[in-house]
Amino acid sequence: MLQGIWDEFLLIVRQEAGSRVVETWLKAVVFEQWDALNQTAHIKAPNSFVKDWIKNNYLNLFNLHLCRLLNVKEIKIAFFIGQHKAEVIESVISPVSLDHKSNLIIPGKLPIAPANQNIQVAKKDQSVINPNYCFENFIVGPSNSLAHAAALAVAEKPGVLYNPLFIYGSSGLGKTHLLHAIGNRIKMFNNAKIVVYQTADRFVNEFISAIRFNRMFAFREKYKMVDVLLIDDIQFIANKDQTQEAFFHIFNSLYDSHKQIIFSSDNYPKDLKGITERLRSRMEWGLVADIYVPTIETKIAILKKKAEQNKEILPDDVAYFIASQANANIRQLEGCLVRVIAFAHLTGQKISKTLAERVLGAVVNPEMCNLTLNKIAQTIAGNYAYTIDQLRSQERGRDIAFVRQLVMYLMKKLTDRSLREIGQFLNRKDHSTVLHAVNKIEKMVKIDLKLQKEVDSIKKELSA
Ligand code: ADP
Ligand code: MG
Repeated sequence: MLQGIWDEFLLIVRQEAGSRVVETWLKAVVFEQWDALNQTAHIKAPNSFVKDWIKNNYLNLFNLHLCRLLNVKEIKIAFFIGQHKAEVIESVISPVSLDHKSNLIIPGKLPIAPANQNIQVAKKDQSVINPNYCFENFIVGPSNSLAHAAALAVAEKPGVLYNPLFIYGSSGLGKTHLLHAIGNRIKMFNNAKIVVYQTADRFVNEFISAIRFNRMFAFREKYKMVDVLLIDDIQFIANKDQTQEAFFHIFNSLYDSHKQIIFSSDNYPKDLKGITERLRSRMEWGLVADIYVPTIETKIAILKKKAEQNKEILPDDVAYFIASQANANIRQLEGCLVRVIAFAHLTGQKISKTLAERVLGAVVNPEMCNLTLNKIAQTIAGNYAYTIDQLRSQERGRDIAFVRQLVMYLMKKLTDRSLREIGQFLNRKDHSTVLHAVNKIEKMVKIDLKLQKEVDSIKKELSA
């Protein structure tokens, strides 16, 4: 339940204050516990910098939305760092409307200026092509070379080569960036071209209000005039049959007049659920290009580029440290970078690895970054002569219960998986079981030398 509420909270904040706020700050903390009796939300922060930043800038968001989501009139926020609960209890101020400050990511000098501009542009008109997302700023590596080449080709000869172009990949890997880059490049060659960028969910809303306010004619005309149509996150059109029908006709008309259409999506067309067959098959008519998780080298190059864009020099070891944050997509890495730069500016320090470790919580060990839950479970099970199936079973002897808790503890320490994901992996319905185990073993490790040694040797084995 907690995770669901938190996810919803992040969704609202994303819409209200922009995804930078979510990725940079709110994703850095965890909503660990809701104490209904005292109406207190326990929020775990990786360090005091993040905690203070959120307290100073985004507390009103908590009050405004968490109250409603938790169905209470007032809420207290207890921030804590590490495993020490309830360090500070903040009585939240009475609801205030969001001011523009909550969009600010960094005060004074704005190290990641384009990010901030993005938010402002997005607030004015989210359909505007973002000039910061251009080919010049896009780093090409093995994970995105096909999508990049196709995007470039389409930008140079729209409507000729690959129509439609369909780019798919997980969140935060650069799909939106490429769509905007195509738009920018086409406008650069020929400013008269009508380029429309729209996300599928906004397309749905646009369609609904066209029906409600009798504006269907204007809606159809708008899309009839388009030379290049960029539709981001097409998966959001799923199960909206009437919108799909309208879009189908728009697609056909543009396609027949050799106008370029570009889609992005989180999935391959065939695997998109809730989209009519005739629309799905059309998505595959041109070229389907994927983007997958970049290599560490590409991640480093991207981070350096982002830093350079903001007139910052990122030392190699810091770039490597940030890039090796476990399982992070590029958007999350950018969030980490912003936090590091912000901290350096605020405290007047140089950007260094030590500083980055402090800001990012330093939980990640580069050797550990590719660890899977399975690998951890397998290694520990092997050490204690159990099988993974036994760990996942309901078997309750003292020994196996302890080993299971140790597994949970190391999973939490060595990966960025949530308590819920760890619980699911071990067939535990309630993530509080995992939280309990993590806290318990954490305490034991502090006082039990033998256990400390065991944990160290497991860690060594895992990093080998
Ligand atoms: P998606 O649309 O796939 O969720 P975005 O296009 O929004 O992802 O990318 C997230 C962030 O990562 C953006 O700030 C974008 O500029 C950056 N990014 C992703 N890939 C690259 C790349 N190859 N080079 C430079 N920046 C990138
Ligand atoms: Mg996107």
